[in-house]
Amino acid sequence: MIDYVAPLRDMQFILSELAGIDEIAALPGCEDATPDLVAAILEEAGKFAAGVLAPINRQGDEQGCRLEEDGRVTTPDGWQQAYDQFRESGWLGLALPAEFGGQGMPKLVATPVSEMWCATNMAFNMLPILNQGQAEALLIAASDEQKALYLPKVVSGEWGATMNLTEPQAGSDLAATRTRAEPQADGSYRLFGQKIFISYGEHELTPNIVHLVLARLPDAPAGVKGLSLFIVPKYLVDADGSLGSKNDVRCISIEHKMGIHGSPTCTLSFGDAGGAIGHLVGQPNRGLETMFVMMNEARFGVGVQGLGLADRAYQFALAYARDRVQGRDVVSGESGKPIIHHPDVKRMVLSMRARVMAMRALLYTAAGWFDLAHRHPDAEVAGKYRRYVDLLMPVAKGWCTEVGNDVCDDALQIFGGMGFVEETGIAQYFRDARIITIYEGTTGIQANDLIGRKILRENGETLRELIVDLRAVVATLKQDGELGDVGDGLADAIDALESAADWMLANGKEQLADVLAGAVPFLYLLGTVCGGWQLARMALAARSRLAAGEGDEAYLGSLVELARFYMATIGPQALAHAETVREAGGALTRFDLSQL
Ligand SMILES: Cc1cc2nc3c(=O)[nH]c(=O)nc-3n(C[C@H](O)[C@H](O)[C@H](O)COP(=O)(O)OP(=O)(O)OC[C@H]3O[C@@H](n4cnc5c(N)ncnc54)[C@H](O)[C@@H]3O)c2cc1C
Repeated sequence: MIDYVAPLRDMQFILSELAGIDEIAALPGCEDATPDLVAAILEEAGKFAAGVLAPINRQGDEQGCRLEEDGRVTTPDGWQQAYDQFRESGWLGLALPAEFGGQGMPKLVATPVSEMWCATNMAFNMLPILNQGQAEALLIAASDEQKALYLPKVVSGEWGATMNLTEPQAGSDLAATRTRAEPQADGSYRLFGQKIFISYGEHELTPNIVHLVLARLPDAPAGVKGLSLFIVPKYLVDADGSLGSKNDVRCISIEHKMGIHGSPTCTLSFGDAGGAIGHLVGQPNRGLETMFVMMNEARFGVGVQGLGLADRAYQFALAYARDRVQGRDVVSGESGKPIIHHPDVKRMVLSMRARVMAMRALLYTAAGWFDLAHRHPDAEVAGKYRRYVDLLMPVAKGWCTEVGNDVCDDALQIFGGMGFVEETGIAQYFRDARIITIYEGTTGIQANDLIGRKILRENGETLRELIVDLRAVVATLKQDGELGDVGDGLADAIDALESAADWMLANGKEQLADVLAGAVPFLYLLGTVCGGWQLARMALAARSRLAAGEGDEAYLGSLVELARFYMATIGPQALAHAETVREAGGALTRFDLSQL
């Protein structure tokens, strides 16, 4: 297995040229993100990822987690030491507020760091990602007292955190949630019910775990508008923060999964012995709104998992393709050449790199939008980026996880038969990646959200705003004598997007089922266009550096060629997706379900 090498040059290029790190560092509260500090953070994170997380990834996969007879859940060897080091180094609170013990860095800085954790040990990364999401939810909805009691411990990682939505009958459909919360005379609640698939729901890595649980109050309206949110600690917490007795929450089983074996996925039973004590967070019946904050953070984080896994798979495949000798060179007839010289293998490797860079540029740019939306002093500017974040969150999650899987699939293919055996390590990436299109809302659910809430509900306004920005890049590409072909490719993809969006908007009311039949193809379409947009911006930035005589010529030239490759091989898929959006519904409706 090859060593992980943090892609610092690519990261730095995207941060400075595309995601606007200088602009972000000028925002109020982001002043600490100086170029030197950002470079030092990335370098240290790269060392931590390569030196601490990567070496235990394989054993995490092989050993997995165990539920002991006494109800304890054990994690793989090395997990505790790595977690202690991770926590003590302050990585967990990198982008969380300094007021509660975090480092207060912009999300833009935390995103490449998170990519490195995902690339080297995705099962481990599941733990801090939950703390980060929970902290964001508590920041928005918790009372001052709750914040003071829980946030410093969640931000530092001294206590673990979980997100409890799923129940056996309530997966994608949270309206079916049954866990109930009964009010008590002292203002607390007692919770009864069962939650399944809870990541890091039980473990011994931290002395306490803060469960954030969706449940129903006795008089709650039916559906998602009757869900409230509760803090349910594993050990009860006294007013001074010290730990009291064990709460009535039990892990009754853990799942045996195809991947991320190092992350315990637990079934938690609440209230078997009189009720689990919980505390309401925010307003009654408004729990899902808060949970959405946590889910949006987590969804973005899962998109980054797609990127991280894809990048590591690319690194594996590139090294193997350069090393494995097979066949003759198709042009020279020479034998003894590594497989990367075969056009098909080169195509796969290049396609992996193009997709990794497209995802990276899109996710970092979106991370910058988060920061602008939160901190820009001009409300109009902040509002624009808030709309962009909302529109593109399903793409960041849905498209980047699907592409992440595709890239891992190509990596495995490049390994040939050695990819199918476990010892090369690529199979673990293929298996680990498979969950990311499922949890935090499946791709189908992301696509429904994109069409329903993000486009139809506002009559496509933000999408049109985005298309104007996309077309501005085409215009700049056309002005550059050398990049006209990239501009043509991007323009074709944008035309396809616009025509599919027009069709959806025209038919969304009368033929919703037909429109939703094309929801996932539309998500792919928007993702493909956004990926092309980012690579086109990258080509422009590389050209302007070349013109200024700055930087490594070969590297910058390769970024221009990467954009060309994307437009030639991936961009045209936008046209097929657009056609599918328009045609899928009719074909589905005509098909008789009883004939399946
Ligand atoms: C390893 C792992 C970790 C997890 N961690 C957590 C966690 O920490 N906390 C937590 O609360 N949950 C967690 N989950 C649960 C996860 O979020 C759910 O599995 C996921 O939301 C899908 O729900 P489901 O499994 O019930 O599938 P279902 O909802 O039954 O979906 C099955 C299929 O039907 C499709 N479908 C369902 N409804 C629709 C619709 N309206 N439109 C179109 N298609 C639809 C889906 O896209 C999917 O393809 C985890 C799951 C796993 C496997």
